Amino acid sequence: MAKRDYYDVLGVDKSASDAEIKSAFRKLAKKYHPDLNKEPDAAEKFKEVQEAYDVLSDEQKRKTYDQFGSAAFDNNAGGNPYGSYGNYGGFNTSGFGFEDFNINLDDILSNMFGSGFGGSKRKNRPTKGEDVLYRMKISFEDAVFGSKKDITLDLTEKCETCEGRGGFDFKKCSTCNGTGRVRRSQSSLFGSFVSESVCPDCKGQGEVFEKRCSDCKGKGYNINRKTITITIPEGVDTGSQIRIKGKGQVGSNGGENGDIYVEFIVESDPIFKRDGNDIYMTLPINIVEATLGGEKEVPTLDGKIILTIPPYSQTNDKLRIKGRGVPNGSKRGDLYIVLDVVMPTKLDRNQRRLFEELSETNLDTSDKFKIFNKHFK
Ligand SMILES: [Zn+2]
Ligand SMILES: [Zn+2]
Repeated sequence: MAKRDYYDVLGVDKSASDAEIKSAFRKLAKKYHPDLNKEPDAAEKFKEVQEAYDVLSDEQKRKTYDQFGSAAFDNNAGGNPYGSYGNYGGFNTSGFGFEDFNINLDDILSNMFGSGFGGSKRKNRPTKGEDVLYRMKISFEDAVFGSKKDITLDLTEKCETCEGRGGFDFKKCSTCNGTGRVRRSQSSLFGSFVSESVCPDCKGQGEVFEKRCSDCKGKGYNINRKTITITIPEGVDTGSQIRIKGKGQVGSNGGENGDIYVEFIVESDPIFKRDGNDIYMTLPINIVEATLGGEKEVPTLDGKIILTIPPYSQTNDKLRIKGRGVPNGSKRGDLYIVLDVVMPTKLDRNQRRLFEELSETNLDTSDKFKIFNKHFK
């Protein structure tokens, strides 16, 4: 049977990039997926698309195809276009016998495009351990000036006893004869084909141990509670992240460890608010301070300062203190002190007398009274 040109099958140019090929395949695989498309020729088309993608997504195979055409692949892997599909992490080739295809198609596609793709002759490749995201609540002050804090996490770590191998006294795996992979004949809608997958007995290692490690029960890693000191950089805000490289979950097959990402959540503060690199601080003052003005000692995040309050200050007046905001590189934002003129809630006899004296005078000197009175005249 004459085969259609693989590029035509995917509807891409001979010069298409890997990304274009991948994207075309994704679209077509969804379109013709037999679970989603009930047309009689969908399965056939799906298979054709798979086959074209298998070749064009592999640099070496694509070169060969460009040179020799599809005939070059007819005897490959027992005529099986899925020969290289056996080694996706977590993806079982039996999935291609569509009766088990009740898995989410996106999951399958992402597995197919995952790091396991290609290289069917290889044993399990080194895989980086998982990254860990740790969300950490910090105070407003720690966010501004930075700090050091300990966090405690349960993390997988390589078992020291067996050096991550799960056991001792290794010998060649008889199931896969040391190759780490097994092949089996499989029947499906498309007829039978050979599938290759990671050897279930040695997990692709090609070797099995005779003595299981009692510390990790053969897993090669242990879960340990770890305390890690986090350096909170100055000037972080909610959503800022830092990465602690290589401190995440243990890698497999000699792969490096994952990373820890710490994401900061800055707790809201009753006094301080932040706007970019500026800090807003609400300062309550009484009516005498507001009216007469004067100097007042005020605590800030940097310690005490002497603030000059101008006479006739009003609620929401802002006084800027330069360079006392959030550090940003070598510079700092500004601190704005927002005045809140607070009425007394209690007066002693003497104070009451003074207010009564004041009441005999005209205190309605603000423009606000003028505007109000004019409006209702
Ligand atoms: Zn094996
Ligand atoms: Zn162990």
